[in-house]
Amino acid sequence: MGTPCRIVLYAPDEEASVRASRDAFERIVELESVLSDYRQDSEVSRLSRAQAGLWHPVSSDLAEAIQLSRSVHEASHGAFDPTLGTLTKLWRQSRSDGRLPDPETLGLARSRAGLHLVEIDRSRRRIRFERAGVRFDFGGVGKGIAADEAMTVLRRHGVRAALIDFGGDLLAGHAPPDRPDGWRVSVEDGLGTRRVLLLTNQAVATSGDLEQFVEIDGVRYSHIIDPRTGLGLTERRAATVIAPNAALADALASAACVLGEQRMGGVLAAFPEAAISIQTSE
Ligand code: ADP
Ligand code: MG
Repeated sequence: MGTPCRIVLYAPDEEASVRASRDAFERIVELESVLSDYRQDSEVSRLSRAQAGLWHPVSSDLAEAIQLSRSVHEASHGAFDPTLGTLTKLWRQSRSDGRLPDPETLGLARSRAGLHLVEIDRSRRRIRFERAGVRFDFGGVGKGIAADEAMTVLRRHGVRAALIDFGGDLLAGHAPPDRPDGWRVSVEDGLGTRRVLLLTNQAVATSGDLEQFVEIDGVRYSHIIDPRTGLGLTERRAATVIAPNAALADALASAACVLGEQRMGGVLAAFPEAAISIQTSE
């Protein structure tokens, strides 16, 4: 998933810890082979070549990822969208060329984005695209999903006190045995704010780190896309979300960067278990 992942855990002995962490990492690799749009052979990459109008079987991991994304998509009125793949691909190109996409190419890519173009039949675990060329991009939620799944594997091994650090997005299990108040972590939001938090059975995700941006004709664009324009965000925002699971924290942090503080209020009403802080800079 293009980022390092570290697991800290407490287990009775080394052998148990190696076994648990090895299986957790294996689960992450498995999810990568489903969700990564960087890998040509992943399930989402294969689906991007699927014919429109026909039903295609999908793995339970992909069906779950779509379902979860849909809940944040709906609550955020489309600000969070896991089907921006064609746009993010185009945008990656713009970031490397330092040039905006031409209007025609952008228009075409925009017509291929939107979760309304994906129909899911959950009972038979299959999906259908309304139009050809729709590409998933789970970059805004994939790390969170993978962290949650890795924690589930650890739990299955009897490991309860663990911390998963997925490129700065964190998921904590039970507190360390010698620190009953929780995992003490330091979170940097990318706009210069650093916070120390104590986490127990909670996740924290940050988004809008301003390392990943491009400046074109004096305008600074983020790697997070505003689905309404198809271009990177120009507002300099950073969001930190604390939620009971990592996937929700991850997705909400991405949505918050698109929506900003005011419009995010309505979204949070749908997820009362999450807490958010948004910074905006000039
Ligand atoms: P990071 O930790 O890399 O900043 P984020 O969780 O902020 O990750 O997600 C950014 C990634 O999400 C982008 O690189 C892209 O793959 C994807 N993405 C971009 N815009 C959106 C959006 N509006 N909704 C959902 N995913 C998006
Ligand atoms: Mg995110």
